[in-house]
Amino acid sequence: MRIQAGIEQPASVNPVLKSGLQKFKKPKLNIEQLAKDILKGKRSSLSQGITLVESSLPGDKVLAKQIIQECLPYAGNSIRIGITGVPGVGKSTFIEAFGNYLIQKGKKVAVLAIDPSSKRTKGSILGDKTRMESLSVNPDAFIRPSASAGTLGGVARKTRETITLCEASGFDVILVETVGVGQSEIAVAQIVDFFLLLMLAGSGDELQGIKRGIMEMADMILINKADGDNTSKADLARREFENALHLFPALENNWTPIVRTASALYSTGIEGTWETINEYIRLTKENGHFMLKRSRQSGEILRERIESALMDDFYNDPELKEKLKSTSKEIERGNLSPYDAADELLEIYLDKKNK
Ligand code: GDP
Repeated sequence: MRIQAGIEQPASVNPVLKSGLQKFKKPKLNIEQLAKDILKGKRSSLSQGITLVESSLPGDKVLAKQIIQECLPYAGNSIRIGITGVPGVGKSTFIEAFGNYLIQKGKKVAVLAIDPSSKRTKGSILGDKTRMESLSVNPDAFIRPSASAGTLGGVARKTRETITLCEASGFDVILVETVGVGQSEIAVAQIVDFFLLLMLAGSGDELQGIKRGIMEMADMILINKADGDNTSKADLARREFENALHLFPALENNWTPIVRTASALYSTGIEGTWETINEYIRLTKENGHFMLKRSRQSGEILRERIESALMDDFYNDPELKEKLKSTSKEIERGNLSPYDAADELLEIYLDKKNK
């Protein structure tokens, strides 16, 4: 139920009820104000909104839903870019150079991170003070450390909702850094428009750290540290990656992943990266795949959310838990077909729901 703000109570209202209503009204009034301030681009309010989204307190969850609801109509207008690569490849150096470049071009840049495994203090991108030093003090940049460790699904959800708030607050480029190489890339692919993979030249070990699946997800591969003695090695790597990408199946959206070289340290290849991203956006907006991808992402999230809620409901039921244990033993002994057992368990579950 939405409580209307600003409705005056008639003088005759029972005082107990009135104070109850006022208690109820207070958070709504705050949320409205908070939403207004977020839309105005007030940074402290944006941070406050994100803190609500990240909170796991039941009361905050209600407020977070409201704030998302208020901001959603103003969201969606940014370019969301996922950036990944093994530790040490130069992600934060690149984000600093790229972010500053975009700001010079008049953009407002938000940097978020997905890092469910992080045990570092305060979990992430600002854990190390030296990271993104100049970007972090730029008024047109907003850098938010990753939500504290939790399940990947939980962290991805918080990041997606944080994107909504940042967009409503006027940020037009959102950079989502994934730290580590693995599952989190799959989560980030679900919330970004463009996926950029940073790689190094001539270092077999690092290359093996990147799974083929992640290379397949990349819309662009950037060979970083293409400077000094490393320049020609980086060029060679670029050609090798181009050849490797040719072996991948063509993309449905007609985009051919691009391989380029860059030096985040010396700010070369930065402009080319932005040009490539713009080409991608132009192509996919023209052929309809830009919005198609976003709506598929929303559909996937909707499905996943329902599935995980249903699974939790099923597997957390004490009676079903017990029954599942004994049934599993019977299946192992060969006394029961797993199909019949599943039907029986589902029947018990549905019976309970219908009561
Ligand atoms: P991350 O772990 O992927 O975020 O990597 P960092 O951005 O922290 O960079 C790791 C190290 O590589 C740092 O010492 C950087 O100074 C260095 N580095 C990053 N980019 C470049 C580059 O383009 N060229 C060179 N030579 N060094 C770089």
